[in-house]
Amino acid sequence: MNLFNKTPLKGGKKGGGMLGGNNMKFLTQITNAILVIIIISFLFSMFFGGGVKSENIPVSQLATDINLGLVKEIKVSGDNLSITYNTLGTTTPVVKISQKEIGTALTDTLSNYKVSQDKLDAVKIDIVSDQGFWYWVGNLAPYLLPLIFIGIFIWYLTRQIKGPGMQAFSFGQSKARIILPNDKKQRITFADVAGAKEAKEELAEVVDFLKNPKKFLEIGAKIPKGILLMGASGTGKTLLARAVAGEANVAFFSISGSEFVEMFVGIGASRVRDLFKMAKSASPSIIFIDEIDAVGRVRGAGMGGGNDEREQTLNQILVEMDGFEPNEKVIVMAATNRPDVLDPALVRPGRFDRRVVIDLPDRNDREAILQVHSREKPFGEDVNLKVIAERTPGFSGADLYSLMNEGAILAARENRKKISQFDLVRSIEKVMMGPERKSHLLSKKEKEITAYHEAGHALVASVLPFADPVHKISIISRGRAAGYTLKLPLEDRKLQSKKEFLDDIAVSLGGYVAEKNIFGDITTGPSNDLQVSSALAREMVTRYGMSDKFGPIALEGDGGKTMFGHGVGDREYSDKVSSQIDSEVARIMDEAMKKAETILSEHRKALDSIAKTLMEVETIERDNFEKILVANGIIPKKKQDIEHQV
Ligand code: ADP
Ligand code: ZN
Repeated sequence: MNLFNKTPLKGGKKGGGMLGGNNMKFLTQITNAILVIIIISFLFSMFFGGGVKSENIPVSQLATDINLGLVKEIKVSGDNLSITYNTLGTTTPVVKISQKEIGTALTDTLSNYKVSQDKLDAVKIDIVSDQGFWYWVGNLAPYLLPLIFIGIFIWYLTRQIKGPGMQAFSFGQSKARIILPNDKKQRITFADVAGAKEAKEELAEVVDFLKNPKKFLEIGAKIPKGILLMGASGTGKTLLARAVAGEANVAFFSISGSEFVEMFVGIGASRVRDLFKMAKSASPSIIFIDEIDAVGRVRGAGMGGGNDEREQTLNQILVEMDGFEPNEKVIVMAATNRPDVLDPALVRPGRFDRRVVIDLPDRNDREAILQVHSREKPFGEDVNLKVIAERTPGFSGADLYSLMNEGAILAARENRKKISQFDLVRSIEKVMMGPERKSHLLSKKEKEITAYHEAGHALVASVLPFADPVHKISIISRGRAAGYTLKLPLEDRKLQSKKEFLDDIAVSLGGYVAEKNIFGDITTGPSNDLQVSSALAREMVTRYGMSDKFGPIALEGDGGKTMFGHGVGDREYSDKVSSQIDSEVARIMDEAMKKAETILSEHRKALDSIAKTLMEVETIERDNFEKILVANGIIPKKKQDIEHQV
């Protein structure tokens, strides 16, 4: 369900940023320097070689001209002569150039050419010093330029060390992104994190410690070293970690577990070392390791074939954490959505011994998150975020963020200045199931099958007492689905009952049964329905003790594994039990199918009517759907009715 919710942390403007960014900056600096040099040399040649090209005459000619009294002035610059002739009436002086013999004085040269002394006295001879500024520049430039480069380089590095960042230490090593406390633009506080009240309360203590460590240390309190943030992806784990850094005004170093392992063997551990070194020198600070399960999986569990690199990286993290002095003021926060696969060594006391669970947001939290992301967005008057929050159970913070963004994109695409409620409603489905594929035209037959399939789901859901009410049916394909039926689940259910599960399975099979009964054939359409419902039936048997045959026994742990310890694939039951489970699952599925069959044949008229309407209009909203139900003698469920039944 997470479409494009990963907002990568951006590096700071100046000091922050990925190291790659700094290298880039350095390159631009060099290019700039080279550009400047080219421009200078260009100007140089404009000044000295430039202007109108003067006629070049031999020295003998010059001697003759002097003897004729034509020459007014000679400028000597090195071996170059610039001769100004007497102007006779004309305004512009005639200038010619010549070269004297190398290494001899001009007067000697001229007297060799038989220039008489008194004629020569009449000429003003001006010796331009060779030792001038440009002369020196010209001679020293080849030696000076590299020095200047080195100077710039050193200056650049020291600025990094002293200044806002510490990347110089990590040149080309740790890939951590850094947000510094004085980076106001990227600062995030608890106010930017909506909901997650418990998590924020837990973390407030950490903020307090980072702000006044003395208070805690003086009283001998043990400071947390590692905090494990656990929650589904997109629930705001990264956001919360950044907010802790922002609240406490400390540096924030972040890296993802997968980045440790990604490129060269042997680099993971050294990256960890660099990262901790940087964080310590910037303390108080926070190190955030996203997706810690990428390095912190149970060792030797055979997942990914016992990766040495991963183990070394993990070991290094543990070594660094164990080596913390109590006054080091560096707190490591790590995020995972798979706490069940973590190596027990990671969660031992003194390491990640604090755990903060972040749940998917409930309705109020969703509204608050929507509110946060509606800052700076112009809304039409009809926008009601409460309704949107009601319609988005199961959405993570990241999903809600994309929803808001999609809404804005829709409005912009249609050249409206304000986002309307309808934009947001349409975005819900887009985020949930991918964009509509209007171009994907169903053939008439496909349309009919899809219409009956969805009508089957919807009808079974409307008749069964414990199923969620339908709020929209559509046969416009989206993502990979040909059509869809949206149910409005009861809000924020923490507990689900066996009766609900059984009804849910029957609803899932409604599409399958409708296809089978009406067309006498089955398409590939219901394959996902079958997967989901079989998995649910299996969980009822193996995890929730909801089968009469096995009674109250959990045959499997969380997600098919036991917490912290056994690797995947460890079954705790025999082959015999395994086949009993299979037959129990088959029985549940079979009963659910019978239930669906009964409903669909009893309400055949309603089924036809829903399918026909769908073929005509493609999408039916809740109001119209309920009208069809009433017309066929089915009383639509009110949400409250179901709440009573649970
Ligand atoms: P995680 O690290 O848990 O996968 P992120 O922290 O990266 O999730 O969240 C992704 C984005 O979702 C955030 O940048 C933010 O825009 C949005 N988001 C998630 N949770 C919240 C929340 N509680 N309040 C506001 N925005 C949130
Ligand atoms: Zn279906």
